[in-house]
Amino acid sequence: MLQPLLPAIFADYPLEKVSLLRLDALDAHAPGNKRYKLSGYVEQARASNVQTLLSFGGAWSNHLHALAAVGAQQGLHTVGIVRCEAHEMDSPTLADARAWGMEIVPVGRTQYRQRHLPEYQAQLQARYAPCIVIPEGGASLPGARGCAAIADLVLNANHRARRVVVPVGTGTTLAGIVAALPPEYEVIGISALKGAADIERNVESLLEALLPSGQRARWQVMHEHHCGGFAKVNDDLKRFMQVFESGQNVALDPLYTAKMLLAVSNLRETGQWDEREPLIAIHTGGLQGRRGFSWLRNELAV
Ligand SMILES: *Cc1c(COP(=O)(O)O)cnc(C)c1O
Repeated sequence: MLQPLLPAIFADYPLEKVSLLRLDALDAHAPGNKRYKLSGYVEQARASNVQTLLSFGGAWSNHLHALAAVGAQQGLHTVGIVRCEAHEMDSPTLADARAWGMEIVPVGRTQYRQRHLPEYQAQLQARYAPCIVIPEGGASLPGARGCAAIADLVLNANHRARRVVVPVGTGTTLAGIVAALPPEYEVIGISALKGAADIERNVESLLEALLPSGQRARWQVMHEHHCGGFAKVNDDLKRFMQVFESGQNVALDPLYTAKMLLAVSNLRETGQWDEREPLIAIHTGGLQGRRGFSWLRNELAV
């Protein structure tokens, strides 16, 4: 589960003593952090005898992909409200989701923008009743709570590293991990987005709800390692992925995990972090999304 990087890339990138927590290798169809973010909703569905889970995402969404896979595994019906253009209806992500039984409902931008509104969610709730509506990306308190199990994997690995690095979109995964690790740990989030000023506030409020007074890890989100913005890639990132994958038996996704590891390399190269300090980097999956990038060797993808 915890896999040290091989020396093959160390001359180009200072990534010695970095161990990957391979959430990407956990489950063939629903790997990565999204499965943890969904676990609370699956339990809730079981407990309340609800058969339908509904959520939102784009045509390449890791979240909808995982939801469809988990739904198929658990015998639950899933509905995806998908923001997409006509030509994206056949993305590999949506094709998998459909094959796993997800009902795909394409919507335009205007309707998609309503996804956070209680009235809109109530409408969907009524239309697919009885159903559980899951926020986009699983960004919610139950989503964060499910990620405590990722912290257990870190603790059970008995590794001497006390610094844990994780890629960040909304910060939900980070919050769940921070709440479940003791104070001697430090969790560093690498934001995949440009200028997402509300991440810290989101993490704070999740922590407040998860753990009003308890002890927890220290944490921080870094915002300078997005390589151009969400879902953007620059030449540094491409080169890094190519060198990395030629020397490791691990595939990365360009949106999150590659940016995280390049950030670690840059922070060490510039002396902000000690190169000799061991650390655990969490591979949060997302490999299904590689199929959207023609410059990647797709045989490495799922
Ligand atoms: C969604 C996602 C993240 C970000 O998770 P948050 O909980 O939103 O911060 C990180 N990595 C991968 C591969 C993802 O799909």
